[in-house]
Amino acid sequence: MSLVACRACGHQVDTSALACPKCGATDPAKKISRQRRDARNSIILAVVWITLLGFTGVYVWNTLIPTVKQYLVKPQGEAVGRP
Ligand SMILES: [Zn+2]
Repeated sequence: MSLVACRACGHQVDTSALACPKCGATDPAKKISRQRRDARNSIILAVVWITLLGFTGVYVWNTLIPTVKQYLVKPQGEAVGRP
């Protein structure tokens, strides 16, 4: 049992209440739970996007940077390779 704010008047009602005892609105906690579900979905979506961006960043970092390093180091390596 937990109390939530009524979607109509904001009065504290039980989540299992079928109607708000103050204003009589039906399913006073319904909109709150839907909002919570939406918030949870938004958080999951954000985490997925952050993870994707993170993996993309790591991929770019691991593929692009060594390529650039190799390109920059190669002439020196050839010079050192020929005594
Ligand atoms: Zn109410």
